[in-house]
Amino acid sequence: MTVLGIDVGAGAVKSAVYGAGAVPIARGEQETARSYAGLIEQLRGIIAAARRDHGVAAAGVGVPGFLSRPAGVIVRSPNMRFLDGAHLERDLAAAAGLPLRVENDANAAALGEYLALEGGRPDPFVHLTLGSGIGSGIVAGGTLMRGACGLAGELGHLLVSPAGRPCGCGNRGCAETESSAAGIVASYREYAGEGGDLDAAGVFARRQRGDGAAQKAFDRAGRFLGVLLAQIVYALNPGLVSVGGGVAAAGEALLKPAREELARRVVPLACAATRVEAARLGNGAGCAGAAALARDAARHR
Ligand SMILES: [Zn+2]
Repeated sequence: MTVLGIDVGAGAVKSAVYGAGAVPIARGEQETARSYAGLIEQLRGIIAAARRDHGVAAAGVGVPGFLSRPAGVIVRSPNMRFLDGAHLERDLAAAAGLPLRVENDANAAALGEYLALEGGRPDPFVHLTLGSGIGSGIVAGGTLMRGACGLAGELGHLLVSPAGRPCGCGNRGCAETESSAAGIVASYREYAGEGGDLDAAGVFARRQRGDGAAQKAFDRAGRFLGVLLAQIVYALNPGLVSVGGGVAAAGEALLKPAREELARRVVPLACAATRVEAARLGNGAGCAGAAALARDAARHR
């Protein structure tokens, strides 16, 4: 069966067509439409082209935001506000006319990373996507854990600092206010007293050149990531936490202080059972997971 996986981000819509294998047979990327009607039209066009050129039988779509279950409504999408209250799965299925699943983008990425693991599959498995925020997903017993209303696995909003920075979710001190790209830039500005229009990659470049403020910003992001990991370890006892997303390109600059902080905060047994590693698929994980959901949709139509 040939299926289509789509990963909708605030900046770009990525798509990939999968046949029997794990490597896509075609890929695409477009700038994201700026309105809901525009996005529906854009996705309908991508799906229609994949049907025409590759005969795809179903599509899966990952989108940023809190998705309610079983209703399927996007309750809130902090980085794509025109999706607030939208019923994308229903509207897009009507426009596209094929079996279709819509899932939170970080959940889709978690499923994609899980399916890409070779050898034994850890259970449960946790995937964190460190980007402009922190997305995450939990795979338990081989399937995505969604919880009572679809909000399980919103680990980026676990608290790491009760009096900390305000978060887009309305709370303050969430992990994503510290260990995301935005958190790293905010820390750098605090330590350096400036920052101009630097992004997290720019702060990382300065760190690599020996800038002390940039070093401190990454250490801080890593330590708070370790605080988050300690909560994840005690809540879920996962066999593996994989860390992906743009910020994860910093590699050990982030993961080393995170592992050290984790080791300080949990008993050795718990720490030894949980590996913390860089993700395998990088930014292809969202499309791979969405494609797996598409297969599911085709089987259960
Ligand atoms: Zn939050």
